[in-house]
Amino acid sequence: MKIRELLRQDKVTLSCEIFPPRKMDRFKGIFDIVDSIDKLGVDFISVTYGAGGSTSKKTVEVASYIQQNCRASVLAHLTCCDSTREQVREQLHRLRENGIENILALRGDKPEGFTEGGPYTYAVDLIRDIRAQGDFCIGGACYPEGHVECAHKKEDIDHLKEKVEAGCDFLTTQMFFDNNVFYNFLYRALSAGIQVPIIPGIMPILNSRQIKRSCELSGASMPAPFRAITDKFGDDPQAMEQAGIAYATEQIVDLIANGIRHIHIYTMNRPQVAGKIVENLSYILRGQSHGVG
Ligand code: FAD
Repeated sequence: MKIRELLRQDKVTLSCEIFPPRKMDRFKGIFDIVDSIDKLGVDFISVTYGAGGSTSKKTVEVASYIQQNCRASVLAHLTCCDSTREQVREQLHRLRENGIENILALRGDKPEGFTEGGPYTYAVDLIRDIRAQGDFCIGGACYPEGHVECAHKKEDIDHLKEKVEAGCDFLTTQMFFDNNVFYNFLYRALSAGIQVPIIPGIMPILNSRQIKRSCELSGASMPAPFRAITDKFGDDPQAMEQAGIAYATEQIVDLIANGIRHIHIYTMNRPQVAGKIVENLSYILRGQSHGVG
């Protein structure tokens, strides 16, 4: 099912992100992970795309498995900054051949030694290309705290609007740990005339290594209550995992209570974590149908 149609339904939707492992011995386990996530009753599962195309075939393989075997719809990520037009055309062909209708169109992080001058400078170039090549439902990325490379939030929103005008049907956010950051971003996006659904991406933080790396990569700031949790439990893996799940659950409860209708969880291939969050939300999800997000 096209995600834009899913998002129009009168219900709260839940989606999860997974990544295809690089190592072959781990890759085999991804299908069990997918099955476990699907059993949670999520609405769609997104599959990341490795920088430099390192896992591009694996993205299609995992996405096809979801398309053929799962109740959930599938969203395949695709990056472009180091791709040729021919490579993108081939990837779109593979996706179409496998019945995959939804693509998260991304620029990707520039790999080391990257030289500018390819056909895709920004995600908007890819979005235009995909739009011209068939009836895919297209998503884009957005950054409530501003993208790390963009000095001005206003410019970042202007670029986001360009992506929407080029054909984005919905947007998914980078992780954030303070819901007020998201509400403020929604306000700025709406004021700029961005009207497509914006899905907040929630990352349950499960260990201290992940906290540091996630904040460095995403530029996400750590609000005081979150810092207190990581300071207190960061060295105790089980306590940190429990606290991380509780914190993510609280963020989601607050979002739904404030009328947000779509939630995306960065599951980091941990279905048991997604499972605990879904369990924490069972009555909340069951009772919700109306909202504003
Ligand atoms: P863009 O939208 O192109 O923006 C990149 C920067 O360029 C921003 O600073 C923007 O303000 C600026 N910009 C845009 N247009 C213009 C313009 N016309 N002129 C000047 N500046 C401009 N990475 C992966 O490798 N694989 C994945 O699967 C993946 N999945 C992701 C999923 C989500 C939900 C998110 C939020 C990120 C994901 N990423 C992934 C990371 C993403 O690739 C990086 O954040 C990347 O640096 C930016 O990609 P983008 O599509 O947002 O780029």
